[in-house]
Amino acid sequence: LYVGSKLKSAGETGLRADIERLPATASLDQLLHLIDSLNQSDVHDGILVQSPLPAAMGRDAEQQVFDAVAPAKDVDGFHPMNVGRLVQNRADLVSCTPSGIIELLERSDIPIAGRHAVVIGRSDIVGKPMALLLLHRNATVTICHSRTVDLPRIARAADILIAAIGRAGFVTADFVKPGATVIDVGTTRVEDPALVDRLLPPESKRREAFARRGALVFGDVHAEVENVAGALSPVPGGVGPLTIAMLLKNTVRAAHMRLG
Ligand code: NAP
Repeated sequence: LYVGSKLKSAGETGLRADIERLPATASLDQLLHLIDSLNQSDVHDGILVQSPLPAAMGRDAEQQVFDAVAPAKDVDGFHPMNVGRLVQNRADLVSCTPSGIIELLERSDIPIAGRHAVVIGRSDIVGKPMALLLLHRNATVTICHSRTVDLPRIARAADILIAAIGRAGFVTADFVKPGATVIDVGTTRVEDPALVDRLLPPESKRREAFARRGALVFGDVHAEVENVAGALSPVPGGVGPLTIAMLLKNTVRAAHMRLG
């Protein structure tokens, strides 16, 4: 799904996108070899490796792969050098989902400086870079995770609440201060009819889609939050497309950097 959307968007914007598919049985060495040849390639400005990797590649395969991509071609912004530059607020290539969220906030004229932002989730690809980008724009940032005590109370203090957890409908109305901006990063495929019933308002048109398809994608934010939030990003159709837009932007930036 994600790979198809990325290829389609690249084609629409006139960028050339090549896909290299390895067999599910490929070894980590084969993947690292492929990355090395793409690092050397003169026709490719950006490289991204679609996760998750096959479990058979081992537990730290993802980190080894991120480390192997040339920093100048790391359009996902996952290489430790790009992460370090982000910490120092001088990054060229920043993780796409968080930078898409900043774009969304700025284009929606939602002030960041001086506001209290609460980020739920501390992954290397979403939560941590999100918190840093908000901090660099002078928000006061709180990062929450699975060991946070009394999460709803902390979330309720947020002017900007970012949910990047991966649990459908986890953020309910009691997590949200009236009028707060809520950004829903989560994408979870749900097949359980009882859960879908709890997640959708009675009149939702998505109920028909569920009856047809047998599964729907939900965000981390429950539909009831719409009644409390000042602004709420939808799932699907919110952060996802922006992530792809930022990927294309990073690729153009990487091309410019390579051309000097
Ligand atoms: P991840 O690596 O699994 O991280 C999830 C984070 O949520 C962890 O930090 C975890 O805390 C925290 N968490 C889990 N359960 C929690 C709970 N009950 N209370 C508080 N915190 C909890 O996931 P990710 O890669 O960051 O992605 C998060 C979600 O965003 C997923 O649904 C993913 O599909 C989606 N996503 C969407 C896009 C997009 O383009 N739309 C892009 C990236 C990710 P611990 O660290 O304590 O375990």
